[in-house]
Amino acid sequence: VEIESNVPVDESAGGVVVAGALESDRLSTYRTRHRFERYAEFSTVEQFRALCEQASREGRRLLVLGNGSNVLFRRGRIRTLVARNKLGRVFEDLGEGRVRASSSLMISVILKHCRDQRLDSFYYLASVPATVGGAIAMNAGRGRSFGQSIFDFVERVTWFEDGEIRTASAGEIPHEYRWTPFAGLTGKLVLEAVFRFPPSAETEDKIGERVRFSKETQDHSLPNCGSVFKESKGGLMLRLRGLRLLGASYSTKTANWLLNRSPSPRGLVLLIRVAQVLHRLIGRRAVVELIEVD
Ligand SMILES: Cc1cc2nc3c(=O)[nH]c(=O)nc-3n(C[C@H](O)[C@H](O)[C@H](O)COP(=O)(O)OP(=O)(O)OC[C@H]3O[C@@H](n4cnc5c(N)ncnc54)[C@H](O)[C@@H]3O)c2cc1C
Repeated sequence: VEIESNVPVDESAGGVVVAGALESDRLSTYRTRHRFERYAEFSTVEQFRALCEQASREGRRLLVLGNGSNVLFRRGRIRTLVARNKLGRVFEDLGEGRVRASSSLMISVILKHCRDQRLDSFYYLASVPATVGGAIAMNAGRGRSFGQSIFDFVERVTWFEDGEIRTASAGEIPHEYRWTPFAGLTGKLVLEAVFRFPPSAETEDKIGERVRFSKETQDHSLPNCGSVFKESKGGLMLRLRGLRLLGASYSTKTANWLLNRSPSPRGLVLLIRVAQVLHRLIGRRAVVELIEVD
């Protein structure tokens, strides 16, 4: 288990950071290449505050970036200020199944702890390359019909919003299928969360089991961001399997799953639009789960 002493809400290490230009294909797991007009990494709340001020001064929207596993950058040139979460990685075992974790920590660290301590957990996210902040913001979980998500284990969340640090219990934070008030370009930064995991009598390796299941059923052959739509017609998405455009394609193995082999996001964007138009023609909605950023 990864432990660092850096406390994310400690502002004493503050310093001003200024976002500048960057060209990269590493900021989304689709691995598309972009010219980011404004990109910076922050490791303190003070630095994040400075980036919020810069975005507001320059009339830009701001994206808090975790691991980029649910983000689609839609254009070659990105105007949004992208602020990458590099707060200290904190993991603290509070005892009796409670864990405190900073938003920059990968969720796999928590899952390994739960497995070793024989605790129930969100093992269904074992193959998801998410940070704690990204998983909370997206209310990451299983498919809609299962009704299970990370919020089942969240006790409280601490975040930064409008210049203030706030804490609320999970019950006080609205959350629904793949949505919380932190999702999207909201300017809110999740700092840390406390989780509560109940004891479990099960002895199998739940992480190994889930990783095996994911390899069998999900398409990891090319860069992807997992499921594309959080609401769609299953039959129609099945028919789109294998459709290709400009270096992107709907997976032949997994429905509702885009693969990318191009530096340009154009194929991905077009394939999403194709699905949306087809849904509209039959009077249905296709609602994108990805966070789309310009
Ligand atoms: C192979 C694969 C499988 C996947 N399977 C699943 C699955 O089973 N279930 C599921 O729900 N998702 C799944 N996903 C999608 C994705 O992993 C999740 O949505 C994940 O929660 C995103 O985490 P991230 O750290 O990469 O966030 P990012 O993609 O970086 O960001 C996503 C959103 O969260 C916000 N955010 C990130 N960090 C913070 C923070 N600290 N404070 C405030 N907002 C923040 C961002 O601003 C953005 O709006 C999968 C993705 C892949 C690539």
